[in-house]
Amino acid sequence: MINNFLINKNKQIKSFLGKYKIKCNLNCFTSLMLKMNIQKKIVNQILKSNNIVITSHKSPDGDSIGSSMALFQFCKKLGKNVLVCHPDPAPKFLLWVDDVSEILNFEEDKEELKNQINKADLIFSLDYNDPSRLGNDMGEILNQTKAFKIMIDHHLNPSDFVDISWSDTSSCSTCQLIFELIEFSDSLHLLDEKIANPIYLGIMTDTGSFRYNSVKPKTHIIASKLLEVGIKQDEIHEHVFDANTPEKLILRGYASSEKLVILNDIPVAYISLSEEDLSRFKHEKGDTEGLVNVALSIENVKIAAFFAEKDGEVKISFRSKGHNNPVNLLAQNYFNGGGHANAAGGKSNEKLDVVIAKFLKIVKDFI
Ligand code: 5GP
Ligand code: MN
Repeated sequence: MINNFLINKNKQIKSFLGKYKIKCNLNCFTSLMLKMNIQKKIVNQILKSNNIVITSHKSPDGDSIGSSMALFQFCKKLGKNVLVCHPDPAPKFLLWVDDVSEILNFEEDKEELKNQINKADLIFSLDYNDPSRLGNDMGEILNQTKAFKIMIDHHLNPSDFVDISWSDTSSCSTCQLIFELIEFSDSLHLLDEKIANPIYLGIMTDTGSFRYNSVKPKTHIIASKLLEVGIKQDEIHEHVFDANTPEKLILRGYASSEKLVILNDIPVAYISLSEEDLSRFKHEKGDTEGLVNVALSIENVKIAAFFAEKDGEVKISFRSKGHNNPVNLLAQNYFNGGGHANAAGGKSNEKLDVVIAKFLKIVKDFI
């Protein structure tokens, strides 16, 4: 099977590139060739491996859960022993995804997770660009294992911690890359709802429901192929966006009416919630997801931030509009973080008011 795949694929790539060469410039031809070579190596590595572990970043979102579960189901269909290992549990609004309860998480089962990672012969790092995104302890376990490592990701500035790195910052989501991998391996016939649902989920959540510039014609072609499989996109949207608890809405109402600050002199707005605020409104994981967009949705605001104080740490989300406000640089240079030009995040161990004061000082120069 492995040999057949490689022989057929090499022939296919040669003939495809032969046709393509006539139509595109050298840069684009070279990057296409590189991409196909990486994809070929990844598929080959999956076929060669028996115990596969799939990891993704802390505080899982639609794309990390989506890409993990889609690749998990795909590997299972190929007859592999495969397990998803995440730093922490999935939020409530993603518990509907098929087999999400099979995810092993470091927060609740450190020893078992360590055993599984040490037993693996292939480890995937999905939707993150550096082991620190797993949290220090799980990051260390990943760094120490001897397994073959593959990263599939779309964040800027990937660090060098894997054997094969497929980093495509032009992709809207890691889920899009997982689809492309399945397509490349001539396995679209294996697509079923268990694979297609999580792929749609990740693309939808990472593109703000198909609205950002990261959405390319290819993204809609992929969405159409997922719909052909029979996914129910209205149900996926409902699971993600219409699953609020009254407590969550009250917390968000409080944040918008009491904790939203709109700056007068620059087009910046932010919301901050202290540990006390969060416990007063019986905060649950995922309740503040997207609150930063409330600040960004204000007319003329170009940069928005959201600060949440939890367990002695301040977690920060940044969002921006347009091409001139790359908030990933703010996150990366000042707040131990990173991300995309219009959506980034970071963290700080300083007090909430200190972090906000630092942000206000920096953002004035930045804008
Ligand atoms: P969110 O604001 O939804 O938590 O994160 C938005 C994006 O920022 C994520 O998709 C991720 O790319 C990036 N991000 C968030 N937190 C961190 C962080 O602590 N470190 C890094 N490098 N990126 C982050
Ligand atoms: Mn993503």
